[in-house]
Amino acid sequence: MYCTHCGKELAEEAYLCPNCGNLVPDRKRHDAAPKREYPLTWGVLSFFLPLLGLILIFVFIKKKTKASLMCLRGTIVGILAYIGICGCFWLALTLVRNVFASMGY
Ligand SMILES: [Zn+2]
Repeated sequence: MYCTHCGKELAEEAYLCPNCGNLVPDRKRHDAAPKREYPLTWGVLSFFLPLLGLILIFVFIKKKTKASLMCLRGTIVGILAYIGICGCFWLALTLVRNVFASMGY
């Protein structure tokens, strides 16, 4: 971009023209710290609390942000993990019962 006062080429992040000292007028205030969404945090949270993840998906889905995608992934992985864990417990319990049953207890 160029200075509107003197036409000198400016650095992208320049506020002031180094040549004439004028403020760069069309500099939008988008340089303010970008809104952080912590997508990884939301993803991990959704993993441990799939129910919360489901709610968060509906909250974020309207915004279509990275965070919503992470929530979705976290929730799916979390639900699958819980199903897996429950399945293993159930299988182990059944096996133990069968072993005891075959032993005549
Ligand atoms: Zn200038």
